[in-house]
Amino acid sequence: MRIIDVHTHVGRLRHNLPPNRAEDLLATMDREGIDQAAVMAVENPEELDYYFTTEQVLEVCRRHPDRLIPFCSLDPRHRYPDQFDPRPIIQEYVERGCRGFGEILAGVPIDHPGLQAIYGVCGEFKLPVLFHTDYLICADEPGLPRLERMLQQFPATTFIGHAQHFWAEISADGGAAQTQTIPYPQGPVTPVGAADRLLTTYANLCADLSARSGYNAITRDPAFGLAFMERHQDKLLFATDTLQPGRTPAPIAPLIRTCAISETAREKICYRNAVRLLRL
Ligand SMILES: [Zn+2]
Repeated sequence: MRIIDVHTHVGRLRHNLPPNRAEDLLATMDREGIDQAAVMAVENPEELDYYFTTEQVLEVCRRHPDRLIPFCSLDPRHRYPDQFDPRPIIQEYVERGCRGFGEILAGVPIDHPGLQAIYGVCGEFKLPVLFHTDYLICADEPGLPRLERMLQQFPATTFIGHAQHFWAEISADGGAAQTQTIPYPQGPVTPVGAADRLLTTYANLCADLSARSGYNAITRDPAFGLAFMERHQDKLLFATDTLQPGRTPAPIAPLIRTCAISETAREKICYRNAVRLLRL
């Protein structure tokens, strides 16, 4: 089956890791049976040791147009917030081929004014916005009230949820995960978690299954996870968050190929939703 990974990284990202060259990413994709992958730009300082700019993303994707899909990014913080206008910057990136915005890794609340300016422009240009959320990055309170307000205020913008806080909220008791103490909560899920409720309520919210956070969320309570994937089959996107040679953070590719969900749901999660969202 065709598989599209909506969340990967290229470049030197951490000082203690070898760089994930485009060739390394393609080798990982070949091994995992992944046909195409979206490459994230990293233009915020909080999560990684180095940046991988939109210009660099465009360059590697230009060399592998059949396999790699460029995302763009820019930092929402500006010395003169009133003068921050992301529109011409994002418009240029769209014209040069970018299909999404992310990964947002800025250590600001998810409703930061600069991010709101970005969300509005991304809605206008039909760029889905992929955000990381934890206790610092795109921070929110338990229950994700700030994210909910953004979903309401920017109905034309598609948001792709990712990372520790978003996925802890698969369970109603997940809010404690915004503190650093329980990044990957284990055990049975208590319905109805905020992530689950928001996915049901808002047409403009999707989520990627990448990294340990996504994998943990859908496997910590196996029966719940399968039902969750079936229920949200139009909203979930296969992804790995690969950022080093030869390794994915979690065995999501074998899981998604073999888990007990309908073939319709599997096809949507593996590629149909990505084709629709990224306009491939
Ligand atoms: Zn990432």
